Amino acid sequence: MKDFEYLIRDVKDFPKPGIVFKDITPLLFDNKAVECVIDQFVEQLKGKNIDKVVGMESRGFLFGMLLAQKLNAGFVPIRKPGKLPHKTISESYSLEYGEDALEIHKDAIKEGEKVLIHDDVLATGGTAQAACNLIKRLKGDIVAANFLIELEFLNGKDKINDIDVYSIFKY
Ligand code: AMP
Repeated sequence: MKDFEYLIRDVKDFPKPGIVFKDITPLLFDNKAVECVIDQFVEQLKGKNIDKVVGMESRGFLFGMLLAQKLNAGFVPIRKPGKLPHKTISESYSLEYGEDALEIHKDAIKEGEKVLIHDDVLATGGTAQAACNLIKRLKGDIVAANFLIELEFLNGKDKINDIDVYSIFKY
């Protein structure tokens, strides 16, 4: 996978000064790299019998959906407030400045279903933690969380320390 690291582009000062944005769009151009990413996730999840892959808006949908198909699992989107059309539950979380919230459809996960959380980047862990809280409220069984990229220096893992976390590229 190291061979594909050059396909992750650093964009300085996006979306605001001081942030180095990890842009995965060059990787998406390359179908071999995408296949490699999915194969690596699938290999690592062998024997876990995932029922649902939960992907976070919006880049968590890209690999999340492909992964769900490969795992013979269903895909569940977690979205920003007001985007999901049916009955939802909501969870607020803190950002660097202020607060945001995430929503999931109430009927998206059945009690006891084995759930994988997926997103493109694990940064401070606030998003992943909010996703975990939503899934726990629906009584899902969170088996693992995986990310394309983990920004280790932000210690996001600490916020979801009861979950098995796997990331392909670490910085
Ligand atoms: P956090 O809640 O801080 O872990 O942030 C994770 C969410 O924000 C993910 O959905 C990412 O897509 C996005 N994100 C945070 N930091 C970055 C970054 N440096 N580059 C790209 N996306 C990021």
